[in-house]
Amino acid sequence: MKRKLCLLMAVLAVLALLPLGCGGDPAAEVSRYDWALTFEEENKTLSGTGTVSCLNQTQNPQTEIRFSLYQNAFRDPDNPPVSAVYRAKAYPNGKSSGEIEIASVTVGGEPADFALSENGMQLVLKLGEELFPGERLEVGMSFTIRPANALHRTGWGPHTVNFGNCLPILARCGAEGYDDGTYYSTGDPFVSEAADFSVSLTLPEGWTAAASCALEEEEGVLKGEASRMRDFALVLSKEFNLTEQAVGDTLVRYYSYQDEDPEKSLQVAVDALTTFNELFGLYPYPTFSVVQTGFVYGGMEYPGLVLISDTCKNEELYEVIIHETAHQWWYGVVGSDQVRHAWQDEGLTEYSVLLFYEENPEYGVTREEFVAAAQKSYSLFCDVYAQILGEIDVSMDRALPDFLTELEYSTLTYTRSVLMYDQAREGMGKKRFLNGLKKYYSSCAYQVADPATLLGCLDAAAGFKVSKVLEQYLDGNVVG
Ligand SMILES: [Zn+2]
Repeated sequence: MKRKLCLLMAVLAVLALLPLGCGGDPAAEVSRYDWALTFEEENKTLSGTGTVSCLNQTQNPQTEIRFSLYQNAFRDPDNPPVSAVYRAKAYPNGKSSGEIEIASVTVGGEPADFALSENGMQLVLKLGEELFPGERLEVGMSFTIRPANALHRTGWGPHTVNFGNCLPILARCGAEGYDDGTYYSTGDPFVSEAADFSVSLTLPEGWTAAASCALEEEEGVLKGEASRMRDFALVLSKEFNLTEQAVGDTLVRYYSYQDEDPEKSLQVAVDALTTFNELFGLYPYPTFSVVQTGFVYGGMEYPGLVLISDTCKNEELYEVIIHETAHQWWYGVVGSDQVRHAWQDEGLTEYSVLLFYEENPEYGVTREEFVAAAQKSYSLFCDVYAQILGEIDVSMDRALPDFLTELEYSTLTYTRSVLMYDQAREGMGKKRFLNGLKKYYSSCAYQVADPATLLGCLDAAAGFKVSKVLEQYLDGNVVG
């Protein structure tokens, strides 16, 4: 392992970093996870062992590496990562706790000291020598994930066990250094770089896995490879029925256990993937799995896989499938900082649902109806909040902890984004608006794009500063 950098290497390392900004090379180097996972039925635990080839993707030498341990947010049963409004739904059997226990860590094959961060949400590895930009470090790890009895991103219920945001994942070192990995109950508090995954999974008799990539059985072990994904998720069940259909080079799979018309749900996913392929650019992965499961919210996105709550029915179910499918473009392929700028992926995803309805009139929802519903919901929110708080803050570009309530977060991040994007699109025309999104998708694939990049793509497509319109919404200068 090389740690010393001569001048030539420094220049090469910097050049290697250039593609990491948006507009770069999708084939750029990424980190790689190799996990061997074993599920144990009685306690619903997932034990893992393997190595991570950690690439320094920053522009600075690093003296430490951090892994997010989001599962540790479930340790305190009195303070779970879900707001009071949703607590009873998330924990139908009462309080329960979960965690990830790190048994051992190696660096370069040698046993290494490690510590958890103060809040327990990150594994911190202090490096003896600096890891320079473009350099790699092999970190080995063994761990056990204990899910809570909770209908959450990780957790088990009567039909399924969800393993989302629970594998150790390299924390992203942004311009301001590392976040502290807090698992906010509002929003999706996760930011990670795209990486390659190689996963093997051992399951007890009778269990099936839905995963971020296809898993093929080899001598009793399920194996799969995923390329350029920013996370890896699994849902396990003994009850799954699988129905599937190809869309171009992608196999769309629908896993369910209590859907009266699974073919219809699959068709919605197929229609959504087909529509977004045409509108934004091709979905890049060989499989896309839509998974019915016990889940406190409507749905949740992961690369190559989405969770859909088994409480969703009919039109609500279909709209959740459309929304979560759009996240494959906005969050999955094009990443953004979901802690600081949640509107960037959620707002665009919600507006993509409107675009879907426009392209698929047989679903019976028009652009005008969708915008009118958003306007009504936003106006109601403003009225209620103004009565309670007097003056209200309708700025959208806030970090997750800066939203007062879930309602404020969802109204400003989802609903108001529909109004914002619709006004921008009205000003620049639909064709140019879609060209801007196509450019955003192709130039920022597998990156973590900042808001300025998204606005810049729309400005370039518009031929004028349409970003001025969006910034007024984001800053809260437009109220109505
Ligand atoms: Zn969403």
